[in-house]
Amino acid sequence: MSLPILLITPPFTQLNTPYPATAYLKGFLQSRGIAAAQADLGLEVLLQLFSETGLEQAFQQAAAYPEPSPNALRMLALKGHYLRTIEPVVRFLQGKDPTLSRNILTRRFLPEGSRFDTLPDLEAAFGDMGIADAAKYLATLYLEDLSDLITETVDPQFGFSRYAERLSRTAPTYDPLYEALAQPPSFIDLLTIQQLGNLIEQHQPCLVALSVPFPGNLFSALRCGQWLRKQYPQIKTVMGGGYPNTELRSLKDPRIFEVLDFICLDDGEAPLEALYAYVSGTNPDAGSLKRTYTLREGEVQFIDSNACSDYAMATTGTPDYTGLPLDQYISVIEVTNPMHSLWSDGRWNKLTMAHGCYWGKCTFCDTTLPYISDYEPLTAGLLADRMETIIAQTGNTGFHFVDEAAPPALMRNLALEIIRRGLVVSWWANIRFEKSFTPDLCLLLREAGCIAVSGGLEVASDRLLKLIDKGVTVAQVARVNKAFTDAGILVHAYLMYGFPTQTAVETVDSMEMVRQLFAAGVLKSAFWHRFALTAHSPVGKNPDAYGVRMMQAEGTFANNDIAYEEAVDTDHDAFGYGLKKSLFNYMHGIGLQDPLHKWFDHKVPRTTVKPDWIYGALEEAALSLPKETSRVVWLGGPVAVQTVSKSKKGATWEEAQLTVYARSQTLHLRLDAAKGLWLSDLLPQLTPGTATLLTRAEVRSRYEAAGWDDFELFWDDKPLAPLRKVGLLQV
Ligand code: SF4
Repeated sequence: MSLPILLITPPFTQLNTPYPATAYLKGFLQSRGIAAAQADLGLEVLLQLFSETGLEQAFQQAAAYPEPSPNALRMLALKGHYLRTIEPVVRFLQGKDPTLSRNILTRRFLPEGSRFDTLPDLEAAFGDMGIADAAKYLATLYLEDLSDLITETVDPQFGFSRYAERLSRTAPTYDPLYEALAQPPSFIDLLTIQQLGNLIEQHQPCLVALSVPFPGNLFSALRCGQWLRKQYPQIKTVMGGGYPNTELRSLKDPRIFEVLDFICLDDGEAPLEALYAYVSGTNPDAGSLKRTYTLREGEVQFIDSNACSDYAMATTGTPDYTGLPLDQYISVIEVTNPMHSLWSDGRWNKLTMAHGCYWGKCTFCDTTLPYISDYEPLTAGLLADRMETIIAQTGNTGFHFVDEAAPPALMRNLALEIIRRGLVVSWWANIRFEKSFTPDLCLLLREAGCIAVSGGLEVASDRLLKLIDKGVTVAQVARVNKAFTDAGILVHAYLMYGFPTQTAVETVDSMEMVRQLFAAGVLKSAFWHRFALTAHSPVGKNPDAYGVRMMQAEGTFANNDIAYEEAVDTDHDAFGYGLKKSLFNYMHGIGLQDPLHKWFDHKVPRTTVKPDWIYGALEEAALSLPKETSRVVWLGGPVAVQTVSKSKKGATWEEAQLTVYARSQTLHLRLDAAKGLWLSDLLPQLTPGTATLLTRAEVRSRYEAAGWDDFELFWDDKPLAPLRKVGLLQV
């Protein structure tokens, strides 16, 4: 039997759930008959570090640090408490020992360092009964204290979800990484190498594929390659993932091949299959490699054979999580905000509904790269099949759809498919806040298990949204956010400041819009990003159109983030702290009525936005009726009907009395007998099942065929209003 490929996510990405690339590739390779194993080296290193033995070693090193801060001194003195509590805390955060929460909440169990200095009001944040989450929050602070101690005294490159990120960010030359690799391994490097050695012994691979989605796990990948080259020169190494895909598209420096053999770009399936054939000797022709850099005669060569083509998303197989220690991931709560905590709390299966972005126009985005430009959606049926397979594999019913922007029509179809199959799932997704997310669609998504969405509001200014070509307006985003919120779905917005030509007043106005969205309760969480000019975005391709001058020649290593200067002289960075501080408070419901200048330590212009602007936008009625092609769906529950005779002032007539058993209420409706019977006959046919759902036009023609000509008056008006609230939807 041929030796397998070992797929590795090097330290560090995230603690609570595996980064999905290795699972995607493993599923694909196995569907092609290629043996593959996978490991989350980041998790393994952290578990080793946060064990009694690992921490003992870290404390020993920390004790030798020459000038510890008062906080580090205090923690060193409390070493015994840390060693005694570390393993119980990790077990608790893995969800294995929930009763420890009561002990943690006494505040007499965990040693406390400086992270506990500004503790929020736990009762206000979690309520009296939010015991598990409050304890998780305290346990997270405890781990963050330990992380601070390690960064200060043992290894300055350490971070929970990143390692040596500073070296890899915007690295036009390879020099800093090269020099760092020439240094002796750090404490974390040694743990990494030790765990890697175990994996090599266990799996005996012929090829190690290192997945590098972020700058924060590049250095560890290179360390792994360096060690493998020395200890196991017969094992070949390849790096792929988001970092090379965006940063290394014009790689020229040959020195990276002193520690790696190959680097692949873009979707990994076809390149990895071709590389495996080459490495295993099935196809010894190096010219058959696909989108792969390697070193030939001392020069970096990019080989991209046409002999094999990429695989359609529908044929890449279901992600396969087997081999990952799913019960050992650590859920943490870093911010006491229910939406924000989704990123770090809970083990979410990651999936995508589509490859690329269906919109693909935003001018700050990498729209010229295949991961955005090559749009290819899956079908709802295939997605639901994959969800069922992954649930059976992992035992987890939570999904995070990590699309660049999930397409609304596919979300609708997936929701109908989930309901039709009776799947019990919870899921959240990245979206674009576009107007097709009507209140009815949001209710359908909620019924199918959608709990949260995140999307880009970017700069909350209509002028800049137009320049960004986002295809939305602030008012529209507000209304869409309200539709989600009313349906019980949490909303997170990605915000941006410092877009070229943005003025100081526009930044303050954007901040005011955000304040009003929080005050109106339609936004639960958000994050401000500083605009970055990337080589592969429309702004990077055409800087003149945005009043920008690039100041950097192409480097020999990473090329993505580019230094630039603007024609408009605004000090965008001066706003960063105040924007982030105000937002952090807004997410906790604090300071929503305070004047904006309060958040800054320098003068800022007054906002020009009226204080009730968002309320006004929310009150503007949605004027348009659903399209005639909308599917009509009934999710309201069983309906009983009886006809009764009524008489008044000598007149007698028949009336239909409908009783609807909705999930949390029972509704009683009185209708004209014929229309009531017609409706009670129709509603069960509108439940997602095997038959195709009727469109609004088909419902209308049935109504008219029954002899009535007042469809809108009956269907869209008062008589059926109560049914729409409990699940008569048009989507
Ligand atoms: S920013 Fe988002 S919506 Fe815009 S093109 Fe990029 S991925 Fe698509």
